[in-house]
Amino acid sequence: MSELLLFKDIDEPGLASREVYERRGGYESLKRALRMPREEVLQNLLDSGLRGRGGAGFAMGKKASFLPKGTMDKYLVCNADESEPGTFKDRELMQKSPHMLVEGMIIAAYAADANRSFIYIRGEYQQQAEILERAIEEARSAGYLGERILGSDHSLSLVLHRGAGAYICGEETGLLDSLEGKRGNPRLKPPFPANQGLYQGPTLINNVETLATVPHIIRLGGQEYAKLGTETSTGTKLVSVSGNVQRPGNYEIELGIPAREIIFGLAGGPERGRDVKFWFPGGSSSPVLTPAELDLPYDFDSMAKAGSMLGSGAIIVVDDSQSVVDVALTLAKFYRHESCGKCTPCREGTNWTVKMLQRVESGEATPMDLDIIASVQEQIMGNCLCVLGDAMAMPVASMVSKFRDEFEAHIETRRAQLGLGEPTEPTPLEAVGVGS
Ligand code: SF4
Repeated sequence: MSELLLFKDIDEPGLASREVYERRGGYESLKRALRMPREEVLQNLLDSGLRGRGGAGFAMGKKASFLPKGTMDKYLVCNADESEPGTFKDRELMQKSPHMLVEGMIIAAYAADANRSFIYIRGEYQQQAEILERAIEEARSAGYLGERILGSDHSLSLVLHRGAGAYICGEETGLLDSLEGKRGNPRLKPPFPANQGLYQGPTLINNVETLATVPHIIRLGGQEYAKLGTETSTGTKLVSVSGNVQRPGNYEIELGIPAREIIFGLAGGPERGRDVKFWFPGGSSSPVLTPAELDLPYDFDSMAKAGSMLGSGAIIVVDDSQSVVDVALTLAKFYRHESCGKCTPCREGTNWTVKMLQRVESGEATPMDLDIIASVQEQIMGNCLCVLGDAMAMPVASMVSKFRDEFEAHIETRRAQLGLGEPTEPTPLEAVGVGS
């Protein structure tokens, strides 16, 4: 395996301080970048092929290149609102190596010609927020932030902003509204943030891991970085592995290694005597995959080809001791709670799905309810203002379709346990609890 980048020194004692970070070569990439014209820095980002590590997987350099030229205020926003169930890699990165993020932001802002930057961190990450505040102050006192950084023509302010605990503020436009002091509701796109983002100005929004990778790209050179990973999924990736594995945690992998190597080789697989029943490859919003798909290369395109997604790189493993009905219901309840309620398919669809899954769980349902659940998910997918609706619909639909037998068996068992008679088919409205 090639030399890994982000976690190589992460457990170095004191790495969160500027002194130790600099001793490990920190801020050398910034100095090198500032000696280049900004177009060359941007070209390195383009050459690297780095795809966003927050979920969407859009090419970072391309996104930075979309910002219009001109002297207007431009913004760089770091999305540190890490809230996707199963994802906890940014937390460790910010906690142990905050300067890597700060350095990456200064370089990315230089490439995009942005002069104001923000880190929007989820409210629950209080400890990480305090660590970042200290790092920002240290960077400022060393002349890495502020006016004419290290004597260059690049100036940048950096403000840390703590969120208030809403999952939807991880959606980039909801985040921007929240940062502006409004309720964090997603905006209709277009316009996209690159043209009209924060305070209506051109805005580049990137995830923590994406920005923390930037100093390494400058150190290696974009083309050299692109040799890591696969042709279309370059580089390394932090993967959070959780669920039924013996060694849950964050691991850095080169993109394209078999998923089995991550789940079994790094995370130890399920407890002895247990088997993988299914797994989420990219956080709780990704369609589930089965054990038959464990040997697929873990990269953006292979996961998409298998009908799922790499998302934020959070693998959640579910073993054969777990009930798929419980998993689907827990997940649907989470997304119902986090729906902002702005659009109908998501607001009503998440609620209906919870009600229908509760009918399944309690044994009141019939197999026809499963058809209605599947149909409701289809109505949600692609019909919402932001991705939250799909984030519930895609995994629920995949569980119902891949484990339909288990759903039916669960209904039958519950009915027998409760002594309920033969089920009567519900009308679709009864199934979702309307008019009952
Ligand atoms: Fe809000 Fe859900 Fe619509 Fe997104 S999809 S805007 S969370 S109601």
